[in-house]
Amino acid sequence: MRFEAFAVENIPLIKKGDDLAQIICERADVLDGDVIIIASTIVGKAEGRTFSLEGIIPGAEAVEFSKHIRFTPTFIQAVLERSRECLIPSPVLLVEMKNGHICINAGIDESNVEGEMLLELPADPDASAECIGKGIESYTGTQISVIITDTNGRAFKRGQTGVAVGVYRIHPLKDWRGQKDLFGKELKITEEAVADEIAGASNLLMGEGNGGCPVVIIRGLKLRSNESTSVNEMYRTDEEDLIKKSLRYLRDRG
Ligand code: GDP
Ligand code: MN
Ligand code: MN
Repeated sequence: MRFEAFAVENIPLIKKGDDLAQIICERADVLDGDVIIIASTIVGKAEGRTFSLEGIIPGAEAVEFSKHIRFTPTFIQAVLERSRECLIPSPVLLVEMKNGHICINAGIDESNVEGEMLLELPADPDASAECIGKGIESYTGTQISVIITDTNGRAFKRGQTGVAVGVYRIHPLKDWRGQKDLFGKELKITEEAVADEIAGASNLLMGEGNGGCPVVIIRGLKLRSNESTSVNEMYRTDEEDLIKKSLRYLRDRG
């Protein structure tokens, strides 16, 4: 068994309106079954999702939060506007975004963005993945999968890792339930987070700094789905999510 991971070289600095599918296809030989992994940073840039804090008017909640965290009320306002719920208001700002993704600062980032501008995540990363995926398929005549990634921290452990925030034609979880282990015992629980695993592996090539490597291709995994797929398949429901319940309890206790 083996799979290959390689960077797509010579991707330019991405600007609003760029056709990422075309840019990728001009620089890589895409084959059937490839998984194309794309850093959310360039998807956001191509979608024109840079913004500045000027002109953002902080609401009462943002002003209140700013008393307990080192962020300005305008930055906090920008985060809250993209969130459906704040789970930890300080000393970090952990939110559940409107699309269900839970992360620090609603994924708003200043790194690898020009000047004083900030960059937000795509509003609907599955839709972005589908759009780029369909573009790549039509340019190349192949059937591929796409994963849009971001770098996130983790609970319990130091260190950030690549995670999937949007998918096209790949289920984010591989269900092992019902299969047998080496000794014939039935697996009862395990759903393998394949999209996050691929995102983590790809991030080894992307890095976080000035490497200029926002697109990776992984070849040799048989994970393409003919059905439509969504990152939402990974998100726990409120009812199931013990951590979210605990965080709410702590937050509301004050
Ligand atoms: P994120 O994980 O989606 O937030 O993306 P990062 O900011 O960590 O960047 C991931 C990789 O993409 C790094 O190697 C960056 O240098 C690279 N990168 C970011 N923006 C661009 C761009 O516009 N063009 C190119 N060629 N590389 C970029
Ligand atoms: Mn990021
Ligand atoms: Mn990153």
